[in-house]
Amino acid sequence: MTQPHAIQPEKKRILTGDRPTAPLHLGHLVGSLQSRVRLQHEYDTFILLADVQAMTDNFADPARVRANVLEVALDYLAVGLDPRHCTFVIQSQVPEIAELTVFYLNLVTVSHLRQNPTVKTEIQQKGFGEAVPAGFFVYPVSQAADITAFGAHLVPVGDDQLPMIEQTREIVRRFGGLYAPVLTEPQALLSAFPRLPGLDGQTKMSKSQGNALFLGDSADEVKRKVMGMYTDPGHLRASDPGRVEGNPVFTYLDAFDPDRERVQALKDHYRRGGLGDVKVKSHLVDVLDGVLTPIRERRAEAARDAGAVMALLEAGTRRGREVAAQTMAQVRQAMGLDYFSA
Ligand code: ATP
Ligand code: MG
Repeated sequence: MTQPHAIQPEKKRILTGDRPTAPLHLGHLVGSLQSRVRLQHEYDTFILLADVQAMTDNFADPARVRANVLEVALDYLAVGLDPRHCTFVIQSQVPEIAELTVFYLNLVTVSHLRQNPTVKTEIQQKGFGEAVPAGFFVYPVSQAADITAFGAHLVPVGDDQLPMIEQTREIVRRFGGLYAPVLTEPQALLSAFPRLPGLDGQTKMSKSQGNALFLGDSADEVKRKVMGMYTDPGHLRASDPGRVEGNPVFTYLDAFDPDRERVQALKDHYRRGGLGDVKVKSHLVDVLDGVLTPIRERRAEAARDAGAVMALLEAGTRRGREVAAQTMAQVRQAMGLDYFSA
């Protein structure tokens, strides 16, 4: 496989990433992966396999995180992220990110961190309460270090990440005001589907909520999962009028069926009554097969040579570390902590 390209100072940068807690799912595809694929030629794109962040709630199971680094990398290649245009970086192998995190922790307050709505929800979902691990509680700060270490201008993310980008922007401004304006203030980029609902109708498909359809799921698995999907609970008989709003089957058709007119006709029919769930779901299975078959094939192809994928990650991580080290040198200089430089 080709080596990642050299540093391209003339291009703006993207940094985004995923927690290797499980393989990637349909939410990642429409929330972030498709934007990355589209923009990878235009921006110097860094993609972080955020294993340190994954460890904040999986510290008791590091083997899970390790195994999913390869799974997520396979998903990247499968959806068309091209290692000639983007750089895959394993977070734990870039200690400069941890170093930045330590300095940034002084620039935020505990009361401010407590207000982060995404972290609040996650603490609740995970049942942490007051016993939330400190590392988990401060992960928005380490995410600010991820983004700024690579000097990212743009961060394509799902909407659960907006508070993290805002937190990053605040840290950048605080840092600039106190020391020197060496950090880049990033912008979030939301897609048309910034929060794909789960198969169970919950507001967000999540790896850790057991409500995901994974990009690598087999055709049988896709069928089984779609047929078991939540729909309108009031739509008991096919003849009953049904609700399209809040019905994830139709949200997925909006997201994945390129034939807009057909989707509109199905919605009208469902609302009127006379269209059964099994029929709409069968159609969704066909649509998803169309989307996922090429992804599944490319994934299987890449999985045949795990060694080559790891080599790509190694080369990407080396390049990522060079960029982060440059940022760290500027940060040390801005703070007057560059004691031994010439
Ligand atoms: P976990 O449950 O482990 O947190 P996750 O499914 O939330 O996993 P992340 O790795 O945390 O996935 O998120 C990676 C990126 O994908 C983020 O930018 C996030 O906003 C986006 N994303 C995750 N789930 C969805 C979704 N359902 N819809 C749109 N974007 C999503
Ligand atoms: Mg998440």
